[in-house]
Amino acid sequence: MTDKAVLDSLLSNPFFTDLKPGMVAELAARGEMREFAAGEDILREGEVSGGAYIVVAGTVTITMLVRGSRVEVAERDAGAFLGEISLLSGVPHTATVAAKTAVRALRISRADCAAVISADTGALLSIIGTLGRRLYRATVPLAYLSFTASALVEGRFDPAILQDIEERQDEIGRFTGIFESMARYVSERTRKLEDTVEERTRHLNREIARRQELEDELRALASVDGLTGINNRRHFLELCEKELDRAQRYDHPLALMMMDVDHFKRINDSYGHAAGDEVLKRLAATCAANLRGPDILGRLGGEEFAVAMPECGIEAADHAAERLRQTLAAVEVPSGQGPISFTISIGVVARNSGEGLAAALERADKAMYAAKQGGRNRVVRG
Ligand code: GH3
Ligand code: MG
Ligand code: MG
Repeated sequence: MTDKAVLDSLLSNPFFTDLKPGMVAELAARGEMREFAAGEDILREGEVSGGAYIVVAGTVTITMLVRGSRVEVAERDAGAFLGEISLLSGVPHTATVAAKTAVRALRISRADCAAVISADTGALLSIIGTLGRRLYRATVPLAYLSFTASALVEGRFDPAILQDIEERQDEIGRFTGIFESMARYVSERTRKLEDTVEERTRHLNREIARRQELEDELRALASVDGLTGINNRRHFLELCEKELDRAQRYDHPLALMMMDVDHFKRINDSYGHAAGDEVLKRLAATCAANLRGPDILGRLGGEEFAVAMPECGIEAADHAAERLRQTLAAVEVPSGQGPISFTISIGVVARNSGEGLAAALERADKAMYAAKQGGRNRVVRG
């Protein structure tokens, strides 16, 4: 039963091209025609069936088990030769072939092959040719694969190589597709990673800025007197030290004022501590408003204040102190028990050459004490 369809199927396969025409008919006659329903297995992966099939009619799908899942690797129509490697070598089938549609296929056994080979040496050429093509189809993609992989690793990957081969329909083409997917996957992962790093960097920078602000706030708090808002003792002394250093180095004038509220205890006692606080606040604000830009005002503690006046000699300082005393004496601080008036005593000194801050302040303090002794509400030069 060597009908034309069978002969055509055999002749369309390169495996049989080197056979004498009579031998193809001989093989067709020896083979056993089988019918498979759609979905039926023709060859099973891992088995040695001892037979190969030439598809005469219908379509088959070829699948392989990859990590537990069946993956379709190809589809073949009439003329396809299936299982020939297993038939020739005795190794198990590397894939499962199933009928996709109803399939007619000619089964050729090992004995049929042996008979054809012994009758026609052209059959050997065909076999070698088939194996050679198989080898080629496996070797060329492997060469591309190893070239591309080492290029990637060495950082000289040229995407043009993918364009070079992407037109190909064979295994190289499939490798190309897989490589492109891998490249997309890697670049997507890299992009996500970069996004994450960027987001974290932004977050970190915001955090750094926030801490910087907090630090600035803390520094400001540490240098400012909580009640009056002017320099606290520590910061006043620090600024004063710098000004005095500069004045000493360049031999410029500098004056210091030490001032203390007169009978402040009485104000607290008569009007209450809160009213006393208001007096201190008003005193600081009035001083700040009446001093020059470069002057440094500080609260040394309690009701005691000091001023450093750069570029100011004793005459000018005395004058400024007197003006300040009069201004403050005219101030009235409102309270629940009527307006509060107060006076201050001031000691004023000009820096002595080579003198340190502590010594200069001590002289100003002594002058201030002398002002108290002299009857308060006055300025005394030290
Ligand atoms: P003198 O004229 O000799 O300076 O007399 P004084 O009463 O001003 O001096 P004294 O040192 O006897 O009293 C100072 C008072 O200032 C005592 C203290 O309770 C008060 N005082 C210190 N710090 C503050 C403050 O922050 N707020 C208020 N309301 N009172 C304060
Ligand atoms: Mg006092
Ligand atoms: Mg005092």
